[in-house]
Amino acid sequence: YIDIDELAKEFGTSRALHPVSLSIPAGALVALLGPSGSGKTTLLRILGGLEFPTSGRVLFDGKDATGMSVQERRAGFVFQHYALFRHMTVFENIAFGLRARKRRERPGEAEIGRRVNRLLDLIRLPNIGGRYPSQLSGGQRQRVALARALAIEPRMLLLDEPFGALDAKVRKELRQGLREIHDTTGLTTIFVTHDQEEAMELADLVVVMSMGRIEQIGKPADIRSRPSSDFVRAFTAA
Ligand code: ATP
Repeated sequence: YIDIDELAKEFGTSRALHPVSLSIPAGALVALLGPSGSGKTTLLRILGGLEFPTSGRVLFDGKDATGMSVQERRAGFVFQHYALFRHMTVFENIAFGLRARKRRERPGEAEIGRRVNRLLDLIRLPNIGGRYPSQLSGGQRQRVALARALAIEPRMLLLDEPFGALDAKVRKELRQGLREIHDTTGLTTIFVTHDQEEAMELADLVVVMSMGRIEQIGKPADIRSRPSSDFVRAFTAA
């Protein structure tokens, strides 16, 4: 489980996050939902170790992880804009994180091949290992980005508007894909979105944010039936 304890972040004189606290159970599928500028991305980046808080702590299974590096945290990231390497095949993209490991921790080539193929099956694109990103659709690229994030056997999966750049139909497919992957792997998964429908449909736990604060934390149905403020009611209205 992940505990966020009075976490705050300032950029110069501007406050991106007021002290926020939140507990995320192991294996949960969590949406950070809010309008632009509400602090969702900042919170996600702090969880992943891409940003460090001004004050407060992050704990993994009760252990202080606030100062841990990205590598130590073993976070798998997926961003809105496909961060795939264009000059590498899909196979090489997915294998990248494994090959980048220190020699002692690096699996052999046969094992890397097995793992990549297993991941290609998981994202339901078994035959595209030899292709280059330019030969894929946007939705396929995001699936590959997911496989690449999973290849390092992360402790948690962090996604920042992962479907934001895709059209409605592909978004729906990918939502389902992420749900499947979550159910298969059991990984703690946290995604950022400003789309209430996406959050409400996909997440077990929704964290509604506004202006650097957490407005409400709850199951989608509870947030719909008992919004804690007018803001939450308006923002989560179907
Ligand atoms: P969006 O969906 O637009 O990314 P968000 O909810 O993810 O919004 P954040 O990106 O976390 O919000 O930003 C929260 C606030 O912090 C904003 O006011 C933003 O301008 C500010 N901010 C974020 N990153 C930086 C930075 N590196 N330097 C200065 N200000 C920043």
